[in-house]
Amino acid sequence: MIVLKTSSELELMRVACQISAQALVVGGEMVKPGVTTAQIDKAIHKFIKSQNAIPSFLGYNGFPASACISINDEVIHGIPGGRVIQPGDIVSIDVGALYKGFNGDNAATFAAGEISPEAQRLMDVTRESLHMGIAAALSGNRVGDVSNAVQTYVEQYGFGIVREFVGHGVGKDMHEAPEVPNFGKAGRGPRLTAGMTIAIEPMINMGGGGVKMLSDGWTIKTADGSLSAHFEHTIAITDNGPAILTTP
Ligand code: MG
Repeated sequence: MIVLKTSSELELMRVACQISAQALVVGGEMVKPGVTTAQIDKAIHKFIKSQNAIPSFLGYNGFPASACISINDEVIHGIPGGRVIQPGDIVSIDVGALYKGFNGDNAATFAAGEISPEAQRLMDVTRESLHMGIAAALSGNRVGDVSNAVQTYVEQYGFGIVREFVGHGVGKDMHEAPEVPNFGKAGRGPRLTAGMTIAIEPMINMGGGGVKMLSDGWTIKTADGSLSAHFEHTIAITDNGPAILTTP
Protein backbone atom coordinates (compact mmCIF):
# COMPACT_ATOMS: atom_id res chain seq x y z
CA MET A 1 0.00 0.00 0.00
CA ILE A 2 1.32 3.44 -0.90
CA VAL A 3 1.14 5.81 2.07
CA LEU A 4 0.41 9.45 1.21
CA LYS A 5 1.84 12.05 3.57
CA THR A 6 -0.18 14.92 4.98
CA SER A 7 1.30 18.41 4.80
CA SER A 8 2.37 18.25 8.46
CA GLU A 9 4.00 14.86 7.84
CA LEU A 10 5.76 16.33 4.82
CA GLU A 11 7.24 19.01 7.06
CA LEU A 12 8.73 16.30 9.28
CA MET A 13 9.96 14.49 6.17
CA ARG A 14 11.68 17.70 5.11
CA VAL A 15 13.56 17.92 8.39
CA ALA A 16 14.55 14.24 8.29
CA CYS A 17 15.72 14.70 4.71
CA GLN A 18 17.70 17.84 5.52
CA ILE A 19 19.52 16.03 8.31
CA SER A 20 20.19 13.14 5.91
CA ALA A 21 21.49 15.53 3.26
CA GLN A 22 23.77 17.34 5.68
CA ALA A 23 25.05 14.01 6.99
CA LEU A 24 25.97 13.12 3.42
CA VAL A 25 27.87 16.40 3.10
CA VAL A 26 29.74 15.61 6.33
CA GLY A 27 30.71 12.21 4.93
CA GLY A 28 31.49 13.43 1.43
CA GLU A 29 33.88 16.11 2.67
CA MET A 30 35.88 13.40 4.45
CA VAL A 31 36.43 11.32 1.31
CA LYS A 32 40.19 11.69 0.88
CA PRO A 33 43.10 9.29 0.54
CA GLY A 34 44.23 8.04 3.95
CA VAL A 35 40.84 8.24 5.65
CA THR A 36 39.14 5.02 6.77
CA THR A 37 35.50 4.31 6.10
CA ALA A 38 35.00 3.80 9.85
CA GLN A 39 36.15 7.39 10.47
CA ILE A 40 33.56 8.66 8.00
CA ASP A 41 30.83 6.53 9.55
CA LYS A 42 31.72 7.81 13.02
CA ALA A 43 31.46 11.45 11.91
CA ILE A 44 28.13 10.79 10.21
CA HIS A 45 26.80 9.06 13.31
CA LYS A 46 27.88 11.95 15.52
CA PHE A 47 26.31 14.52 13.21
CA ILE A 48 22.94 12.76 13.01
CA LYS A 49 22.79 12.36 16.79
CA SER A 50 23.67 16.05 17.21
CA GLN A 51 20.51 16.87 15.23
CA ASN A 52 18.34 14.91 17.67
CA ALA A 53 17.81 12.28 15.00
CA ILE A 54 18.57 8.58 14.72
CA PRO A 55 20.70 6.98 12.00
CA SER A 56 18.08 5.03 10.03
CA PHE A 57 20.52 2.40 8.85
CA LEU A 58 22.03 1.52 12.24
CA GLY A 59 20.57 -1.81 13.24
CA TYR A 60 18.32 -1.99 10.17
CA ASN A 61 18.06 -5.74 9.57
CA GLY A 62 21.15 -5.88 11.78
CA PHE A 63 23.29 -3.46 9.73
CA PRO A 64 26.18 -2.51 12.06
CA ALA A 65 26.81 1.13 11.06
CA SER A 66 25.14 4.49 10.39
CA ALA A 67 26.15 4.73 6.74
CA CYS A 68 26.80 2.30 3.91
CA ILE A 69 30.18 3.08 2.36
CA SER A 70 31.03 1.27 -0.86
CA ILE A 71 34.32 1.69 -2.73
CA ASN A 72 35.04 1.21 -6.46
CA ASP A 73 33.47 -2.11 -7.51
CA GLU A 74 31.31 -2.17 -4.39
CA VAL A 75 27.84 -1.07 -5.42
CA ILE A 76 25.93 -0.63 -2.16
CA HIS A 77 25.72 -1.79 1.46
CA GLY A 78 29.46 -1.65 2.15
CA ILE A 79 30.17 -1.93 5.87
CA PRO A 80 32.44 0.83 7.23
CA GLY A 81 35.65 -0.44 8.79
CA GLY A 82 39.40 -0.16 8.69
CA ARG A 83 39.71 0.08 4.92
CA VAL A 84 41.81 3.09 3.98
CA ILE A 85 40.65 5.17 1.01
CA GLN A 86 43.26 5.26 -1.75
CA PRO A 87 43.99 7.96 -4.34
CA GLY A 88 41.72 7.46 -7.34
CA ASP A 89 39.02 5.58 -5.43
CA ILE A 90 35.37 6.39 -5.94
CA VAL A 91 33.44 6.17 -2.70
CA SER A 92 29.66 5.82 -2.47
CA ILE A 93 28.03 6.92 0.77
CA ASP A 94 24.39 6.10 1.49
CA VAL A 95 22.85 7.56 4.65
CA GLY A 96 19.43 8.13 6.18
CA ALA A 97 18.13 9.83 9.30
CA LEU A 98 14.98 9.20 11.33
CA TYR A 99 13.47 12.35 12.82
CA LYS A 100 10.21 12.37 14.77
CA GLY A 101 9.11 9.16 13.13
CA PHE A 102 10.06 9.96 9.53
CA ASN A 103 13.03 8.90 7.43
CA GLY A 104 15.18 10.65 4.87
CA ASP A 105 17.42 8.68 2.52
CA ASN A 106 20.14 9.84 0.14
CA ALA A 107 23.39 8.75 -1.44
CA ALA A 108 26.21 10.05 -3.61
CA THR A 109 29.52 8.89 -5.01
CA PHE A 110 32.61 10.97 -4.23
CA ALA A 111 36.07 11.02 -5.80
CA ALA A 112 39.18 10.55 -3.64
CA GLY A 113 41.79 12.78 -5.23
CA GLU A 114 42.36 12.45 -8.97
CA ILE A 115 40.17 9.84 -10.63
CA SER A 116 40.19 8.46 -14.15
CA PRO A 117 38.11 10.22 -16.83
CA GLU A 118 36.09 7.01 -17.18
CA ALA A 119 35.26 6.99 -13.47
CA GLN A 120 34.30 10.66 -13.64
CA ARG A 121 32.02 9.94 -16.57
CA LEU A 122 30.36 7.07 -14.73
CA MET A 123 29.69 9.37 -11.79
CA ASP A 124 28.41 12.18 -14.01
CA VAL A 125 26.07 9.89 -15.95
CA THR A 126 24.72 8.30 -12.77
CA ARG A 127 24.04 11.68 -11.14
CA GLU A 128 22.39 12.97 -14.29
CA SER A 129 20.26 9.82 -14.64
CA LEU A 130 18.90 10.50 -11.15
CA HIS A 131 17.86 13.96 -12.27
CA MET A 132 16.26 12.53 -15.41
CA GLY A 133 14.24 10.23 -13.17
CA ILE A 134 13.28 13.09 -10.86
CA ALA A 135 12.14 15.20 -13.82
CA ALA A 136 9.72 12.41 -14.78
CA ALA A 137 8.30 12.15 -11.25
CA LEU A 138 5.24 14.24 -12.03
CA SER A 139 1.85 13.86 -10.44
CA GLY A 140 -0.23 11.81 -12.90
CA ASN A 141 2.78 10.00 -14.35
CA ARG A 142 3.53 6.42 -13.40
CA VAL A 143 6.51 4.84 -11.69
CA GLY A 144 7.47 3.35 -15.06
CA ASP A 145 7.97 6.85 -16.45
CA VAL A 146 10.65 7.47 -13.81
CA SER A 147 12.21 4.06 -14.39
CA ASN A 148 12.26 4.50 -18.13
CA ALA A 149 13.77 7.99 -17.93
CA VAL A 150 16.70 6.63 -15.89
CA GLN A 151 17.17 3.60 -18.13
CA THR A 152 16.99 5.51 -21.40
CA TYR A 153 19.57 8.05 -20.22
CA VAL A 154 22.02 5.47 -18.86
CA GLU A 155 21.86 3.02 -21.74
CA GLN A 156 22.96 5.57 -24.32
CA TYR A 157 26.33 5.54 -22.53
CA GLY A 158 26.55 1.75 -22.53
CA PHE A 159 26.69 1.43 -18.76
CA GLY A 160 25.06 -1.41 -16.82
CA ILE A 161 21.98 -0.84 -14.67
CA VAL A 162 21.73 -2.80 -11.42
CA ARG A 163 18.35 -4.52 -11.43
CA GLU A 164 18.45 -6.52 -8.20
CA PHE A 165 18.13 -3.36 -6.10
CA VAL A 166 15.68 -0.52 -6.67
CA GLY A 167 14.41 2.77 -5.30
CA HIS A 168 11.43 2.85 -3.00
CA GLY A 169 8.80 4.77 -1.16
CA VAL A 170 10.08 6.29 2.08
CA GLY A 171 8.36 7.71 5.15
CA LYS A 172 7.65 6.18 8.54
CA ASP A 173 9.39 3.12 7.14
CA MET A 174 12.65 3.48 5.31
CA HIS A 175 11.40 1.15 2.60
CA GLU A 176 7.76 1.60 1.64
CA ALA A 177 5.74 0.90 -1.49
CA PRO A 178 6.13 1.46 -4.35
CA GLU A 179 9.34 -0.04 -5.65
CA VAL A 180 11.04 2.36 -8.06
CA PRO A 181 13.24 0.34 -10.45
CA ASN A 182 15.91 2.02 -12.57
CA PHE A 183 14.59 0.27 -15.66
CA GLY A 184 11.13 -0.27 -17.06
CA LYS A 185 8.44 0.74 -19.47
CA ALA A 186 6.96 4.21 -19.57
CA GLY A 187 3.28 4.37 -18.68
CA ARG A 188 3.42 1.27 -16.47
CA GLY A 189 3.29 0.79 -12.72
CA PRO A 190 1.60 2.69 -9.90
CA ARG A 191 0.42 6.22 -10.59
CA LEU A 192 2.33 9.04 -8.89
CA THR A 193 0.17 11.39 -6.85
CA ALA A 194 0.78 14.40 -4.63
CA GLY A 195 1.73 13.33 -1.11
CA MET A 196 3.89 10.41 -2.20
CA THR A 197 7.51 10.47 -1.07
CA ILE A 198 9.94 8.25 -2.92
CA ALA A 199 13.67 7.61 -3.03
CA ILE A 200 15.05 7.39 -6.56
CA GLU A 201 18.48 5.77 -6.59
CA PRO A 202 20.21 4.64 -9.77
CA MET A 203 23.07 2.18 -9.15
CA ILE A 204 25.10 2.13 -12.35
CA ASN A 205 28.06 -0.07 -13.30
CA MET A 206 30.75 0.70 -15.83
CA GLY A 207 30.45 -2.86 -17.13
CA GLY A 208 27.46 -5.19 -16.90
CA GLY A 209 24.59 -4.70 -14.47
CA GLY A 210 25.16 -7.99 -12.66
CA VAL A 211 26.04 -8.00 -8.96
CA LYS A 212 27.07 -10.46 -6.25
CA MET A 213 27.00 -10.38 -2.46
CA LEU A 214 30.17 -10.75 -0.41
CA SER A 215 30.47 -13.32 2.37
CA ASP A 216 29.87 -10.53 4.95
CA GLY A 217 26.22 -10.87 3.97
CA TRP A 218 25.91 -7.16 3.14
CA THR A 219 28.36 -5.77 0.61
CA ILE A 220 27.11 -5.88 -2.97
CA LYS A 221 29.81 -5.81 -5.67
CA THR A 222 29.70 -5.74 -9.44
CA ALA A 223 29.88 -9.28 -10.82
CA ASP A 224 32.51 -8.29 -13.37
CA GLY A 225 34.67 -6.17 -11.05
CA SER A 226 33.86 -2.93 -12.87
CA LEU A 227 33.36 0.37 -11.04
CA SER A 228 29.93 1.34 -9.75
CA ALA A 229 28.30 4.67 -8.84
CA HIS A 230 25.19 5.47 -6.81
CA PHE A 231 23.21 8.67 -6.42
CA GLU A 232 19.95 8.99 -4.50
CA HIS A 233 17.50 11.68 -3.47
CA THR A 234 14.28 11.50 -1.50
CA ILE A 235 11.63 13.50 -3.32
CA ALA A 236 8.02 14.48 -2.74
CA ILE A 237 5.47 14.34 -5.53
CA THR A 238 3.56 17.62 -5.49
CA ASP A 239 1.01 19.28 -7.73
CA ASN A 240 3.77 21.73 -8.65
CA GLY A 241 6.24 19.07 -9.75
CA PRO A 242 8.83 16.98 -7.94
CA ALA A 243 10.37 18.52 -4.80
CA ILE A 244 13.82 17.25 -3.89
CA LEU A 245 13.83 16.97 -0.10
CA THR A 246 17.48 15.94 0.28
CA THR A 247 19.19 18.96 -1.28
CA PRO A 248 21.37 20.28 1.55
MG1 MG B 1 17.34 4.09 -0.54
